[in-house]
Amino acid sequence: MHIPDIIIAIDGCSSTGKSSFAKIIAKEFSFLYLDSGALYRGVTLLSMENGLIGDDNTINVPALTEALKSLDLHFGEKGTYMGERCIEEDIRSLAVAGKVSPIAAVPQVRDWVDNRLREFGRNRRVVMDGRDIGTTVFPDAELKIFMTANHQVRAQRRADEMRAKGIDVNLEDVMRNLQERDHIDSSRETSPLTQAKDAVVLDNSYMTMEQQMDWLKRLIVEKFGC
Ligand code: C5P
Repeated sequence: MHIPDIIIAIDGCSSTGKSSFAKIIAKEFSFLYLDSGALYRGVTLLSMENGLIGDDNTINVPALTEALKSLDLHFGEKGTYMGERCIEEDIRSLAVAGKVSPIAAVPQVRDWVDNRLREFGRNRRVVMDGRDIGTTVFPDAELKIFMTANHQVRAQRRADEMRAKGIDVNLEDVMRNLQERDHIDSSRETSPLTQAKDAVVLDNSYMTMEQQMDWLKRLIVEKFGC
């Protein structure tokens, strides 16, 4: 199946399977996959390591804004890099997950990430996942998907994913973190998580990856006739 040079925007709450789906889509159609959450997590790691966010989540916004000027976050062979350093493992920890939503609510951080994402996407043929891709980053994306899944399924998936990476977590902590992030992400002032008017909803609570791909291919044929 050959599809035109489009942007596929996948938004939704935490752990609804956006990144797994986006990676498979990228492989199937030879698109570039961009994980916008990884950039927010990278900025969070930088903030934590430099004392720019306190235990009470107070953020030193002027210092963070300054630090962003020389921050080099990019994607490479093993995932996300900060300069030469692979930070893939560090940014997936529950400690970073616990601080990322307050950091992602800072307008200067959102601007910085948005600019990076738009640079990456300027030639189209990208699939990007996040919270505001179809509403703010690429409101002109040709295909917008809004993913949902039930809460229990989401928490279990995230816990399994972390345990598979050797991170020891308990389900209640994961569930609490998802709830907190959903709340902050949906209620923040700048670019809150909302469904774009022209997005198509995919509830994948009880769907296999194969069923999700079949669903997507039907949608593409309907929309682009290919
Ligand atoms: O997708 P992931 O769970 O890795 O995202 C981590 C966090 O980054 C989210 O909980 C949210 O606070 C923030 N985020 C965002 N906008 C995006 C992507 C992620 O605010 N487009």
